[in-house]
Amino acid sequence: MYFNLSQRLERLEPLQSLQPLEPLQPLQPLQLSSMSTFSSYSFKDKKALIRVDFNVPLDDQFQITDDTRMTATVPTIKKILSDGGSVILMSHLGRPKEGPADKYSLKHLVSHLTTLLGGASVDFANDCIGQEAIDKSAALKPGEVLLLENLRFYKEEEKGDKAFAEKLSKLGDVYVNDAFGTAHRAHASTAVIADFFAADKKMFGLLMEGEVISAEKVMHSAEKPFTAIIGGAKVSDKILIIENLLERATDIIIGGGMAYTFLKARGGNIGNSLCEDDRLQTALEVLEKAKQKNVSIHLPETSIIADKFAADANTQDCPSDAIPAGWMGLDIGQKAVGVFSEVILKSKTILWNGPMGVFEMEKFQNGTKSIALAVAEATAKGAFSLVGGGDSVAAVNKFHLADKVSYVSTGGGAMLEYFEGKELPGIAAIKNI
Ligand code: AMP
Repeated sequence: MYFNLSQRLERLEPLQSLQPLEPLQPLQPLQLSSMSTFSSYSFKDKKALIRVDFNVPLDDQFQITDDTRMTATVPTIKKILSDGGSVILMSHLGRPKEGPADKYSLKHLVSHLTTLLGGASVDFANDCIGQEAIDKSAALKPGEVLLLENLRFYKEEEKGDKAFAEKLSKLGDVYVNDAFGTAHRAHASTAVIADFFAADKKMFGLLMEGEVISAEKVMHSAEKPFTAIIGGAKVSDKILIIENLLERATDIIIGGGMAYTFLKARGGNIGNSLCEDDRLQTALEVLEKAKQKNVSIHLPETSIIADKFAADANTQDCPSDAIPAGWMGLDIGQKAVGVFSEVILKSKTILWNGPMGVFEMEKFQNGTKSIALAVAEATAKGAFSLVGGGDSVAAVNKFHLADKVSYVSTGGGAMLEYFEGKELPGIAAIKNI
């Protein structure tokens, strides 16, 4: 679904008073080497209780319309089964408000899960705690799988209730967290439950391990030059990420709608481009701080401007700080593509979050596509590249470049919070062993 510019501006939050930038606490790097690693653990005769993210979209007929989240965790499940262990899966689905509801039942996933696991035996428990769940998990034989009913049928899940977490913990011998998408939530099954397992009996699954290792590499052991490419619509959504990156990156490329708030703050004429007037001061502070920290901020020198927010708009390539009234910047221009690509190609570490323009429309996709190609080329030359956050992931998929970058995060909100420098409860619960 596309929003026109006035709808987009309505999506912007109301004016907020300006907050001075606060100094960030340095993040503690993870000690991955000291963690029990999933790959070296033998699950023979063990019952592994896995928190997965099976929050998949279903149509009116309860058919799964996108099974990416299920397929992503299949390698973790298969490794346990092939070791001679059994698997108890727990997840949430949707946002049930008042307890159990057929619409949000995980029973709708059983048949597809069986197919994904090559015909393995998959049983279902109609409640995630209680006697049926206890009996069915106790009866599991090596190679068998039990899927528990939706965790969020209990409000205790999102509240991080200890007693509820303890009941869940009794169902398995080993706790595996493979739900990176919910790692930023301190829920019973994603964080609190880990307290009920000994240090060598809680670990990340393969999906979560991949996400954590990639994020860790970028945030704590990035080889320099380290370029962060930040785009998308709103400065306010990305400001914490930019602040955190000012402590780590050598170069920050700012594109997309958010660039125009920076360009206006520097005195440019941005016409009708997207702008958060309440963030102009924040933008100036970021530019100033970058100077002090010796971080190069790259704003697009040129833009593809349009006379309306529409696929059939008239367009021109013009300087980003001299956009005529009535026109708006909807993509980075050719000169900006050249400068940004040069910066990307000399980088050894690249983090990309957010598109360079309205890439959903063909006329404004060139900037995002060219940047995706530059990231792919830099990766081929040996750089480590991590693409994270909804729309940039959608962009690399659209341009068929997902396998040309080092890692594409499925983490969404969790990855964004990680880039903001926050400690994620789901990681901390397993890291602090
Ligand atoms: P975000 O969710 O903040 O990463 O923003 C992604 C959205 O920003 C995409 O839907 C893009 O179409 C939109 N976007 C990128 N560049 C611009 C721009 N110059 N003007 C308006 N919207 C933009």
